[in-house]
This record gives sequence, C-alpha cells and structure tokens, in this order.
Amino acid sequence: MLTTIPRGTKDILPGTVHEWRYLEEKIRRLCTVFGFEEIRTPMFEHTELFLRGIGETTDVVEKEMYTFSDRSGRSITLRPENTASAVRAYLQNKLYADGNITKLFYIGSMFRYDKPQAGRYREFHQFGVEAIGEQNPLIDAEVIKLGASLLNQIGLNDIKLKINSVGCPKCRPVYRKKLQAFFKDKFDELCEDCQSRFNRNPLRILDCKNPHCRELSIGAPAITDSLCDECSEHFAQLQRHLTAIGVEYALDPRLVRGLDYYTKTAFEFKYTPLGAQSAVLGGGRYDGLIEECGGAPTPAVGFATGLERILLALETQHLLPAQKNTCDVFIVAMGENATQPAFKLLHQLRDSNIAASMDYAGRSMKSQMKQANKSGAKYTVIIGDDELSKNIASVRNMKDSEQMEIPFDTLIDKLIFEVNK
Ligand code: AMP
Repeated sequence: MLTTIPRGTKDILPGTVHEWRYLEEKIRRLCTVFGFEEIRTPMFEHTELFLRGIGETTDVVEKEMYTFSDRSGRSITLRPENTASAVRAYLQNKLYADGNITKLFYIGSMFRYDKPQAGRYREFHQFGVEAIGEQNPLIDAEVIKLGASLLNQIGLNDIKLKINSVGCPKCRPVYRKKLQAFFKDKFDELCEDCQSRFNRNPLRILDCKNPHCRELSIGAPAITDSLCDECSEHFAQLQRHLTAIGVEYALDPRLVRGLDYYTKTAFEFKYTPLGAQSAVLGGGRYDGLIEECGGAPTPAVGFATGLERILLALETQHLLPAQKNTCDVFIVAMGENATQPAFKLLHQLRDSNIAASMDYAGRSMKSQMKQANKSGAKYTVIIGDDELSKNIASVRNMKDSEQMEIPFDTLIDKLIFEVNK
C-alpha cells in the first residue's frame, strides 16, 4: 500500500515532465496570442456548484464525483471539470465588471471516479477555455480555431472536427418530443442508461456508445431540422466564419449535450487512432449556465481537452519532443583539498545562472567522469592537487574532448562566456 499509487492516478516522472511542459508552453503562448487569460481555481468546491453547474442527471455527477464531508460536515467535491468553477469565480469576483467579454483559460488536475484504462484516469489534466459574455458566433469560431491551432501546432493533423447545434430552450423541447416519438417503440430495446435518459435527457441517447443503441438511433430526426430561426442563423454564421478562417469541419447531428443550459454550438475534435478514447477536445456554447449558477443571463462558449489524451496521440505519432540536457558544467574534484574550492566554484557558477553539478561522495576520477558524461554537461572542470598547485583548473569541452588549462581568477568569466556562446 505505502509504495503503491491509488488506481487511476500516475506519477509524472522526471523523464516525461518535459513533454508536459512542452504542451503547456504551447498552450500558454497560444492563449496569449488569442487574448485568453489564465485563471486558477481551487481543486475542490462546494458540491452544490457541480450539481448545478454540470447537471444532476449527468454521468459525471451521478457516478464519478469524489465527494466527501469535511471536518465541519460541509459537502466538498474534488473538481471533475473546471467550467463550473470558472463561472463561480467569474460571478464571485465580478469579472464581468467592465462589461466586455471575459476570456479565461485554465490548466489543471480534474478528478473523476472513472474506469481507468489507457487515456482514462481518475486524476487527469485538462486545458480549457471559457469565453463569457458574448453570443456572436464569431467567438464560437474563435474558440474552435484556438483548439484547431493547438492541435495543428503540435503536429496532430489527423484530427477531425465535428460540429452541431443543439438549439436553445425555445426550439429544443420540440425536438425532444420528436426524438421521444422516434424512440417510443424501441424503448424496451434501449440499454438501461438510455431508458433512464428517455425522459430526463433523450438527446443523450444519440451519443450512447452501446452498439445496439447506435443501431436503434439510425434514422432518428436530426436536431438541425428543428432549430428555431435564431439558432439556425447562428449555426449558419458559425460555419461561414470557420470556412473564412480555414478551419475544416464536418456536420454531425449526433453530437449532443442533453442539458438545458447547453445551447447552439457543440463541437468535438476526434483522433480516431485512440479508439474508445478518441475524443481529445470537446466544447460548445452554454448560454444558460451562468444564470443556473446564480448570475444574470450571460452567453458563453468554451472547450476542454484532456492533456493525457493529447500526449498519447503525440506518442503514437512519434511527435513528442526529446528531453534536453540541462547541466552546463560538471565539476570533478579529486582529493580532499579540491573539495572546497570545487564546491565554491559550483555555487559561483550557480549564482551566475549556470546549471552546475558535482559529486559529493569522493568517487574515483573514472566514476566522476562517467557522471559528467551522463549529465550531458557541455564542459567538465577538473580540479585536483596538480591544478591547485598551479592555481588553474582543467576545463574539458565534452563535445570535442579538447582540454585547456584556465587560471582560477578567470575561470568563472571563461565558463560563463563558453556556456552562453
Ligand atoms: P468532458 O469534460 O467530459 O467533456 O471531457 C473533456 C475532455 O477531457 C475529453 O475530451 C477528454 O480528452 C478528457 N477526459 C475526460 N475524462 C477523462 C479521464 N477520465 N481521463 C483522461 N481524460 C479525460
């Protein structure tokens, strides 16, 4: 137990952290370019926020939340996603105060009691954006373009974008009725989940993963045929904007979200080689959510993407960056008299922002040289009795193995110069 990690979690070890940093740096730069600002919200919130903000009939809320009572008896939940928290922070901190659109992004751990498998974890990481305060489909197109740009920039070109419109509380009830009429005769054949969706959330029957439910839904009415004029026009404009900025998409009438606060645009980027975990990025418009969370009616659109899934896709395509060596200078100290001057030099280098290392165990020359090689250092400084007596250090260029003798009083400047060359 003590040396075993909980199921569905993982250590991100030193040999792979650079892959995460690579992805996170791309994300941060792209968000800056698109004018989104980072927000960091707590890892846990009052459970009530997620019941409202995600919806009590969703799988996440019904089956997957890490909910517990804290020591004063309050119900607390580890965040299973970040949209509800971002909306809570938006309202609590009055981020709408200047009346403009608020464009936020986040990167962080999310927690779901999911069935762990490749690409599916209980603690996983999402990057997401939320654009709050604008209903113009230009912002939907901008948000989708941001997702597309990220995937393109990291080289995932095989990713397919699907879009749909799920209407609004005006036109969706009509569609729900049509859908219920379609599935009425097939009710007994639907899976248990879909039978419970039939009344509560019938749109979700369309994205059920059960093969028989998928078969049963062939020929179901498409929501795009039931959209009101406003939703229909919004969807048409979105498609024109996407085309104008060169974002390729396919229409997918099965792409749905069942809850009332999801409105109009729904989209998903899929990377099919990942099989069951092919959804790498999903999002849409949620014009009803801010009001649901206690704010004034406010339109909003966003997406979330799983970083593990993106990294998995990068791995299958051999697109992950190699780890860079970080050590600039390795100091080899031979003999007791050399230890302190070497240690002093180590810290003078570090004070000058040079990445430096040395051995503390008094190992043999051969062993220290091995460490120097392994560290990937550009230069190795060797200090032994011989060097001390001459007041110099031997400096070896690890690339061409050329060695030179440098007087101690110019050593730091010389190393700074060489390392930064
Ligand atoms: P969702 O919030 O369910 O729409 O998920 C958004 C994205 O988060 C998905 O497209 C996945 O990439 C990722 N995701 C969701 N659940 C998990 C999980 N359990 N493990 C890893 N990634 C996940």
